[in-house]
Amino acid sequence: MHKKKEIITLDGPSGVGKSTISRRIAAALGYTYLDTGAMYRAVGLHLEQMGVDIGDMNAVAANLDTLTIRLLPARSELGDTGVILNGVDISDRIRTPEMSMLASRVSAIPAVRTKLTEMQREIGAQERIVAEGRDVGTVVFPDAAYKFFLDADIQERARRRVRQLRSHGSHVDEKEILEMIRQRDKDDSERSVAPLRKAEDALLIDTTDGTIEEICAGILKKVLSGKQQKPGKSM
Ligand code: C5P
Repeated sequence: MHKKKEIITLDGPSGVGKSTISRRIAAALGYTYLDTGAMYRAVGLHLEQMGVDIGDMNAVAANLDTLTIRLLPARSELGDTGVILNGVDISDRIRTPEMSMLASRVSAIPAVRTKLTEMQREIGAQERIVAEGRDVGTVVFPDAAYKFFLDADIQERARRRVRQLRSHGSHVDEKEILEMIRQRDKDDSERSVAPLRKAEDALLIDTTDGTIEEICAGILKKVLSGKQQKPGKSM
């Protein structure tokens, strides 16, 4: 079993560049990239397909027992993580704005979080990982050696999301996406279980202006220096 020193976490709201940055850091270090958001999206689709009322905690819990999720590397640098849910490829179905909102709703359910936290820790126990999400530094891997919290101006985050969705052929309105992001930030930050927040010992990085290359270089420098980070600093 690998020790905590082989775990790096990046948390933050949507549109801060977490996926691109995490994937590049993982590739540079030869680590596995763990996209925990993809897992919440998969559970959202699963419960929807099963016709489960997500207000019914017993029904939700019963439908998580047989769930299997397998993550596949993205097909391109700009692509998203592939997801196999119970043997079926659902990669293209979980990246719509509606699925983002559904993932956020199911992510507030304690049984869902327990199940996915368990799956994520199993992966972390077997591999060296760069984990990305909302609670990977606070709840899933509190002992990770390097923790980063990414943030950016909300207008810029909305513009990035719009560009990403349009590149997949979706017709989306910037104002609507901005509102959805605002709502998701609020829901993710205010939920009672594992809310989105910066771990005390995570390094805060503002990605509004820097390029992906500059941000990755800063993170890699920190990790390769081998020094444990001091709580609450920013880069
Ligand atoms: O990162 P992504 O946008 O794919 O995540 C979708 C949703 O899944 C988030 O808005 C959040 O509600 C939820 N999530 C979470 N905890 C994580 C990762 C994602 O609650 N570690």
